[in-house]
Amino acid sequence: MQRRNLLKHLWAGTVLGGSSLLLNQSLTASSSEGKMTSPPRGLPRLKITDVRTIMTAPNGIRLVVVKVLTSEPGLYGLGCATFTQRAGVVQAAVDQYLKPFLVGRDPDEIEDIWQSSYVSSYWRNGPVLFNAMSGIDMALWDIKGKRANMPLHQLLGGKCRFAADLYYHASGRDFQEVEDNVRKAMEAGYRHVRAQVAVPGLATYGTRRTGRSAMSSVAGPADSGPTSPVDVWEPGAYVRIVPRLFEHLRSRLGEEVELLHDVHERISPAQAVQLCRDLERFHLYFVEDPLPPEENDHFPHLRRQTSVPIAMGELFNTQQEYVPLIANRLIDFIRIHLSQIGGLSPARKVAALGEYFGVKTAWHGPGDVSPVGHAAGLALELSTYNFGIHEGYVFPRETREVFPGCPEVRNGYLYANEAPGRREAGREVPVSFG
Ligand code: MG
Repeated sequence: MQRRNLLKHLWAGTVLGGSSLLLNQSLTASSSEGKMTSPPRGLPRLKITDVRTIMTAPNGIRLVVVKVLTSEPGLYGLGCATFTQRAGVVQAAVDQYLKPFLVGRDPDEIEDIWQSSYVSSYWRNGPVLFNAMSGIDMALWDIKGKRANMPLHQLLGGKCRFAADLYYHASGRDFQEVEDNVRKAMEAGYRHVRAQVAVPGLATYGTRRTGRSAMSSVAGPADSGPTSPVDVWEPGAYVRIVPRLFEHLRSRLGEEVELLHDVHERISPAQAVQLCRDLERFHLYFVEDPLPPEENDHFPHLRRQTSVPIAMGELFNTQQEYVPLIANRLIDFIRIHLSQIGGLSPARKVAALGEYFGVKTAWHGPGDVSPVGHAAGLALELSTYNFGIHEGYVFPRETREVFPGCPEVRNGYLYANEAPGRREAGREVPVSFG
């Protein structure tokens, strides 16, 4: 291929809202191009020539990114496969099993690749295999967007909104510190804030420690366990303090700011009912994960007992788990962790189902979702009518250096990076169509 034509076909970065992992390792013409048979009119047929996993931890959080290379020189896609707690097994699933299964296939066949990968191991589901499949799936959507020379949200139906509204995480050791942090978020432009407070002397979720429990003074970390607890979790103390936190916040901040709270699946069904009822008068935007997924059968009872909007599902492993909760109108927001259920393709289907039942999207999106995953979620959010909220995460400098073209946080919104992509004198410049 002539250099001029080669450069014409080189696309640096990704159309997943502009997240491009530019590691100076891929924009070279593949030598493994196969001969194309019966090329269709229009776009040339492609083959997958290589699949790579990229492990990075720019801020101490292990991120897994999958890179799918194609027979078109320089055309590749990126996808998020981050299962930060078990990153190595995801890497093995991609490198040892999905790569040999997919090299040589047509990357345009996204749905068929997803379905055939799903049954390729016979035993399926689970965070390892689905994160691996997610890396492939998002990368294939990325490739298709680049092929079409469109931002991904255009392929998915076009923009419904200019950006995605974010919610900010505010926490504190006491009510005043939480209030101060909510105010800081509001001053930065956020209209939605999640509030979590520490339980004095006890462990909880979403806050820094306030100090060890009384029992911990005699037990070091090496001694921790059921007979010598270090961080004691007491659900009773937790469900008593949370309503008092929101009473404090509403009395100081008024009703205008949207407040959220994450239970993090840690209380009994009876406590969940009581807590949600106690929180009703504070008009929360949603209460997240009031029950663990093992207690899904309690949702009809919870729903009958409270009017609090419920967000659920970051621990779900498959898209099928959402169906009964949506179809029976038992929840209000789906907390899909995109890579956990296999990528953008299944998340898109669940979002479409939710549209018919008044259920909105609220993808799970803290720091253990890579910027590629955030960008994929953002592409769906921009084009999904029943979008609800995007979990806010301000990408640290080190992360933005590894992932140039990150979606941008401004005034409490997440914006896709819409800078045009180009290649200049051999230097890679991130594309961002999204
Ligand atoms: Mg959560």
